[in-house]
Amino acid sequence: MPNKSSQSKKENSEGKAAVEKKSGNAKKTKTKKSAAAKKNGAKAAQTAVTKDTSITKDAAKKNAAKPKRNTKTEKTTKTGKGARAKDAARRQEEAALTGKKPASQPETKQGETSAKTTQKAAKKPSQKASRGKGKKNKITDSVKISFLGGINEIGKNLTLFEYNDEMIIVDCGMSFPDADMPGVDYVLPDFTFLERNARKIKAVFITHGHEDHIGALPYFLKTVNVPVYCTCLTAGLIKGKLKEHRMLGSCKLVEIRPGDVISTGEFSVEAIHVNHSIPDSLAYAIRCGAGLIVHTGDFKIDNTPIDGGVIDLPRFAELGNEGVLCLMSDSTNAERPGYTPSERNVGETLEALFRGAGEKRIIVASFASNIHRIQQIVDASVKMNRKIFLSGRSLENVVSVSMELGYLTVPDGILLPIDRLKNYTDSQTVIITTGSQGEPMSALSRMAQSDHRKVTVGNNDYIIISATPIPGNEKTVSNTINDLMKLGAEVAYEKTLGIHVSGHAAQEDQKLIINLVRPKYFIPVHGEQKHLRKHAASAASVGIPEENIVIPELGALIEVSEDGIARTGTVPAGRVFIDVSGMGDVGNSVLQDRKKLSTDGIVIITAVVDSYSGQLLYPPEVQSRGIVFSSNANAFSSYISDRCGEVFREYSRYVQLDIPALKSRVRDTVAKVIFDKTRRAPVIVVTVLSV
Ligand SMILES: [Zn+2]
Ligand SMILES: [Zn+2]
Repeated sequence: MPNKSSQSKKENSEGKAAVEKKSGNAKKTKTKKSAAAKKNGAKAAQTAVTKDTSITKDAAKKNAAKPKRNTKTEKTTKTGKGARAKDAARRQEEAALTGKKPASQPETKQGETSAKTTQKAAKKPSQKASRGKGKKNKITDSVKISFLGGINEIGKNLTLFEYNDEMIIVDCGMSFPDADMPGVDYVLPDFTFLERNARKIKAVFITHGHEDHIGALPYFLKTVNVPVYCTCLTAGLIKGKLKEHRMLGSCKLVEIRPGDVISTGEFSVEAIHVNHSIPDSLAYAIRCGAGLIVHTGDFKIDNTPIDGGVIDLPRFAELGNEGVLCLMSDSTNAERPGYTPSERNVGETLEALFRGAGEKRIIVASFASNIHRIQQIVDASVKMNRKIFLSGRSLENVVSVSMELGYLTVPDGILLPIDRLKNYTDSQTVIITTGSQGEPMSALSRMAQSDHRKVTVGNNDYIIISATPIPGNEKTVSNTINDLMKLGAEVAYEKTLGIHVSGHAAQEDQKLIINLVRPKYFIPVHGEQKHLRKHAASAASVGIPEENIVIPELGALIEVSEDGIARTGTVPAGRVFIDVSGMGDVGNSVLQDRKKLSTDGIVIITAVVDSYSGQLLYPPEVQSRGIVFSSNANAFSSYISDRCGEVFREYSRYVQLDIPALKSRVRDTVAKVIFDKTRRAPVIVVTVLSV
């Protein structure tokens, strides 16, 4: 998926041109206030950000931005007293429990135009009709949230919001395959439900540029081409993907900044700055007639961030005052007590390690997308008078995009092509590499296998793995470390304090967000079941009534309104496997075949029949690979051949030869014979030639 670094510069300028061209009448806006203040100069100089006319600056400050339908919701923000009163009323409602309050939306109705009210009244019947059966709570005027990914898993995040026949999507990510998915490169969410509702979908909002949030976008946009809203760096990374898929010119990518509000009609979506392990990350405040929903995206609270400013906690608090119907929050680190340390801590550790390396060559492995980490490695290298070389395509790509967009600052003459490595002594050198997760094909793994074309690891190497293994990768990471040590290298890894910090909020950070936002309902997202449960427990511990917390499942459709929250249905959701080298989608059956091939082998049966009589002309030929027969293999083959012959003779009695039926009958017969003898279920291929 990473593209060649040599292309990315060109790609980006082309990308910008494409975006600008498409929104020809769009305003060019300059930020006066942005969390990433330092970046602004660079960005503005480089390209005035193109925006849709519907985007406006800082909705909190200027009411002009609001979509007509949601004016009332925003008005509440302005009146502190009103908000508090509303909040109190809300708390009372909570106590009285949900679902039994048919007429409980006075505030939300007030500011509404009559047009809107009529429209709503008109739409209600159909809305009710479309709802699932067996629903206990009567929820009217609800927003429907469905979860197509990111639930019971870390990866392929995709959440769908529907209100009044209009849909928006937050994130469109992929995940990486497990060990039991041979030959699969990526795993995508199932788009069936989205394709079915393509007409309703208005836009995709991306929280940040990690693969589990953007990886599936090109595949999604191929079927449903709608505008994609994201920040500058995220856009840079998405453009690389679109370019790879040759769809840069046909997609509409709109850059937004924290404070911007985008209106799609029924929805108005406000971008909020958060901290995370990639710059330019957003949370979203999503407004619709049903109320205000806050989706945190991936986030952490970093009081001393490397760049881009502290997470906009005041805005979260303001939204809390306004009255938040539902909070959806990142659960990744819900098991971790306390607070997640600042990224800056890693800088201090890195500097100490760099000093300790003495005359040795330094090799640092990190996540390619962790630009703040890379910035700190760069800073430490500059201090120690070392030159930097990059190894790994994804790293080269991200570094080049980030430098170009002003997210990474590297003094001239520090970053050199890896071909020039040989011109510098070990003590003058830092190599930044991918492979911190022990990925088999990564640069660090190649170094560990003495299989890297440019870097030979030996006893004058000091290797720092500035990451912790993602659950499931522990073994491969540990193998890589062992292999590097066998080559004589010194390796500092997760056991070294402060060598890595997480990009996700820990328990106390998560509680702080819940306390600031004070939602009526809470939905933990982004995590495995254990993370979601822990996060739900944290929410309960800070006073969210348990009946107001819903742990979703993959494919769950949850309806939320002032009346209550309930799971009212299921939508198609699952995994789609992508084999990049092959033809694209790998169906479940293909995956099963691959598993069977790897464990149980293959049997190929070829038969030749007379096209007139349907009679078998020769005994069927049987070939097998990867199957061990306890007895004589030839005898077994001829036994299978005989059994096939019987099936053919039985079928040739019919007037018309039904070849597909015949093949499937042969396959079943052979499968049974082999399973009886060997307890294996190989892939069976039957070919019938009629001559
Ligand atoms: Zn992330
Ligand atoms: Zn994520």
